[in-house]
This record gives sequence, structure tokens and C-alpha cells, in this order.
Amino acid sequence: MAREWRTAVLTHVEDSTPGNKRFFFTVKEEGTFEFKAGQFVTFDLPIDDKVRLRSYSIASAPADGNEFELIVVRVPDGKGTGYLFSDVKGSEFRFIGPYGKFLLPENTDSDLCFIGTGTGVAPLRSMIHQIMKAGLPYQSITLVFGCRTEQDILYNDEFTALARENPRFRFIPTLSRAGDHWQGERGYVHDVYLKAFADGRPAQFFICGLNKMVSQCRENLAGLGYEKPVIHFEKYD
Ligand SMILES: Cc1cc2nc3c(=O)[nH]c(=O)nc-3n(C[C@H](O)[C@H](O)[C@H](O)COP(=O)(O)OP(=O)(O)OC[C@H]3O[C@@H](n4cnc5c(N)ncnc54)[C@H](O)[C@@H]3O)c2cc1C
Repeated sequence: MAREWRTAVLTHVEDSTPGNKRFFFTVKEEGTFEFKAGQFVTFDLPIDDKVRLRSYSIASAPADGNEFELIVVRVPDGKGTGYLFSDVKGSEFRFIGPYGKFLLPENTDSDLCFIGTGTGVAPLRSMIHQIMKAGLPYQSITLVFGCRTEQDILYNDEFTALARENPRFRFIPTLSRAGDHWQGERGYVHDVYLKAFADGRPAQFFICGLNKMVSQCRENLAGLGYEKPVIHFEKYD
């Protein structure tokens, strides 16, 4: 666990879905920025707030360089995201980390189900890419991703392409406010994973998002008979 403050430069900002942006950072210190898929960094943002610290899960997979990507949603009236969404490209950010115990387990060789809503997809994306890059064993990967509308599906092209190329990867975007033309799943993520894992077969779950959704998932999965050690989660609030 890295305890010293470091500096990262925000090298690039890219519009993603409405209200969401991708932020690309380069750590200033030389060498590789080491982190594990699923971990987060904590920024000390120059904002006028009692607490200036804001944490963000790394959305990119570990690599040899010293770069990392975040995906952030603009929270209305939020001071942290207000700062990030201002014109700060090129700025230096003080950060600490990586931190976090929301990690891939030693043994991934089972059905793996990733459940996220909104920017909760960030650490899930990092983990899924890490599994593919490192050639970790798995039986199947299911990504149940809850969003409001079709235009809110983060990394839609990327996950859709991955599902096309890899028959063991299933991408299930689930829309709570789908338009009439939407052919995929509607409603909330819960119905989707409950149906997919109704047989209670051996599986591991990775859940990330706001507390209400995560808590509901944990309760539902326990109801299907899944034990705590196979239910991994991260809460954003
Ligand atoms: C471990 C960890 C990892 C995180 N990773 C991410 C990430 O990858 N991307 C990201 O956008 N945020 C992430 N967050 C949330 C982030 O730390 C801030 O809370 C968020 O950016 C709001 O900060 P703010 O100062 O703008 O708003 P604040 O004034 O602090 O407002 C907080 C309010 O925003 C809501 N909120 C916080 N995060 C979200 C969110 N992601 N989606 C919808 N509502 C939210 C909370 O419920 C709360 O009501 C993470 C939080 C934690 C604890």
C-alpha cells in the first residue's frame, strides 16, 4: 500500500457519455505506477470543502507504464467533480494510493459475474481487461451493467466488441429508462443476475456502485445461497 503523496499530471480528458468524462493521468515519478485491478486512488483536490479528499477507482488495467485512466460522473453541485470538470487539463494532482481490497481473487477459474451501475463499471473494466491481458483462467464472464438510457452506457463499443470476439464474455447492459426501440434488458440489474444465476452454480461476484445497489445485490445473492467469500464489492458512497 503506497502511503506517500505523489503527483500525477492530467494529460488528457475525453468526453464519454453525457455527464461523464474519461481522465487520463501520468504519474510524475519515474518508473512504473503499480496497482492491482480494482484499486483506487485518492486525490487531495484544491477545493473549498472541509474534506478535500476524493477517491476514484482506476478504470484501466495495470500496465508497464505510469499512466492510469478514471471515468467520472459529474455530481450536481459536487465540489470535487466541479473541479475535475473545470478546465484542469495539464494540471498536477496530489494523490495517494493505490488503495483498496476490491481485487480479483487468487483463483478466478469459475463463472465470474460483474455487476455495476454508472461509473461503478470503472474497477470492473480494469479487472476484466486484466483477466484477458494476463490470460487468467475463467469459465465465463458476465457483465451486468445498469444505466438509465442507451446513451449512458459507458464503454459500450468496447464491451460490445469484446462480447463479439469472445464467446465466453457476456455483456448485458440493463436500462432503467430504455427507449421503445431497445432490444436488450430493461429495468434494474437485480432481475438480470438473479435470473442468470438462479441455479446457484459455483460463481464469484464483483459488485460496484452506490451503496443502495451494492447492498441489495449482496442480500439477493445471499438469498441464492452464495457465501460472503465469493461476493466482492466496492461502494462509492
Ligand atoms: C473507493 C471509491 C471509489 C470511487 N470511484 C469513483 C469513480 O471511479 N468514478 C466516480 O465518478 N466516482 C467515484 N467515487 C465517488 C467520488 O469519490 C466522489 O464521491 C464523487 O466524485 C462526488 O464528489 P463531489 O465532491 O463532486 O460530490 P459531493 O459533494 O461529495 O457529493 C456526494 C454525493 O454524490 C453521490 N455520488 C458519489 N459518487 C457518485 C457516482 N459515482 N455516481 C453517482 N452519484 C455519486 C453520493 O451519493 C453523494 O450523495 C468513488 C468513491 C469511493 C469511496
